[in-house]
Amino acid sequence: MGFFSLGLINIIGAGPVGLHCGTLLAEEGFEVTIFEEHQTVGRPVQCAGLISRSGIEELGVELGNSVINEVKGAKIFSPNGESLTIQRPSTVAYVVDRFLFDQMFYKKAKRLGCEIKTDCKLIDIRAKLNDNSSLFLQNKGRGELIKSKITIGADGANSVVRHSVFPGVLEKEFVHAIQIRAEGKFNPDLVEMHFGDFAPGFFAWVVPESKRVARIGLAVSLGLNAGNSMKQFLEQKQFSIRTLSKSSALIPISPPLKEISSGNILLVGDAAGHTKATTGGGIVFGLRATEVCADTIANHLKHQHSLDAYSKNMQGINKELNLHWKLHSYIQAMKPGQFNSMLLKAKNAGIEEFLQEHGDMDRPSSFMKKVLFKPKMWGLLPAVIRTM
Ligand SMILES: Cc1cc2nc3c(=O)[nH]c(=O)nc-3n(C[C@H](O)[C@H](O)[C@H](O)COP(=O)(O)OP(=O)(O)OC[C@H]3O[C@@H](n4cnc5c(N)ncnc54)[C@H](O)[C@@H]3O)c2cc1C
Repeated sequence: MGFFSLGLINIIGAGPVGLHCGTLLAEEGFEVTIFEEHQTVGRPVQCAGLISRSGIEELGVELGNSVINEVKGAKIFSPNGESLTIQRPSTVAYVVDRFLFDQMFYKKAKRLGCEIKTDCKLIDIRAKLNDNSSLFLQNKGRGELIKSKITIGADGANSVVRHSVFPGVLEKEFVHAIQIRAEGKFNPDLVEMHFGDFAPGFFAWVVPESKRVARIGLAVSLGLNAGNSMKQFLEQKQFSIRTLSKSSALIPISPPLKEISSGNILLVGDAAGHTKATTGGGIVFGLRATEVCADTIANHLKHQHSLDAYSKNMQGINKELNLHWKLHSYIQAMKPGQFNSMLLKAKNAGIEEFLQEHGDMDRPSSFMKKVLFKPKMWGLLPAVIRTM
């Protein structure tokens, strides 16, 4: 083992969530160290980089030069190829360069005084209730032991913090995603979502960077072969493309976790399953959860409030995440024939115009209740009631 030190707040993982959490806590005047296993923050990139405009504006995060495209809506395809188009005249979501996006958070965290140690991987964590935890790290290949007053696991879907402190939690609730960046011909204004037997348990997507380049991906239930599914999807849809790069990773898809803190250890972001089960998007919700996490810690250190309040403080966000989970479960329980007729029914009921006006990709609750006040949409009420 190398040296032995006592840090106040230690964050594992320099993804957007860990870095934002560090920034918020440093702004409150706390001493923060962030550990990142990779040499460069933001690499490797494993994300489609689609972020809702409303979500990011609400968070007050400036996207700067990370935005590479702005989309106005989405086209949703049912298994038989029938489609719905929800398009607005103005931007509804941004497509970001995830490397530049993460680097933006990195620079801000550094500017505010966070110490960020790259090439430094958490191997294990030992916790004693209400006492400092011991963090076992590999720092540029050398073992290092750190005593930590408060530890935040922002170490993504495969979180070592979660595995060590919450064994058995979020063990199998993932989809396996695969994504390529490809050259071809795309509609730069619309994101595509394709449901079908090529993506059992989830769906396939096309997120355009421009007319010429898009991120094409899909995810499948854990244990299935995502690579074969991707091949099947590309063949079935007859994309004429040239692959530029390829990546693959896990996305947590689960109802909100009950256990996200234990003693002085808290989980946030993908490590805590803070992703929308409908789409797998975790940036906006991870950043929202970060605000709650940082606030809970600040109240603990300044006013001796218990860290156990974290779970309760997450209730508002969890309510929305739970609705995403229910919608996801409802959609995935449908047989292809049911999905096709549901989409047709929704289209005939005027769902495209309805969602154009009321849709919010982060907050299904905002438009689901409005269905009640639109007689044309009442044919969809059984579905709404079952999910709500
Ligand atoms: C294919 C794909 C497409 C996606 N598309 C979208 C999308 O379009 N929109 C969206 O909102 N979300 C999307 N997501 C989800 C999104 O990428 C995550 O929700 C988001 O990155 C979560 O941020 P985070 O900081 O919690 O975790 P991460 O971004 O995963 O960051 C965790 C960090 O912790 C580090 N780390 C891990 N283990 C250790 C360790 N032991 N020690 C030290 N450091 C460690 C990692 O290197 C990483 O830097 C997608 C995910 C995938 C896989």
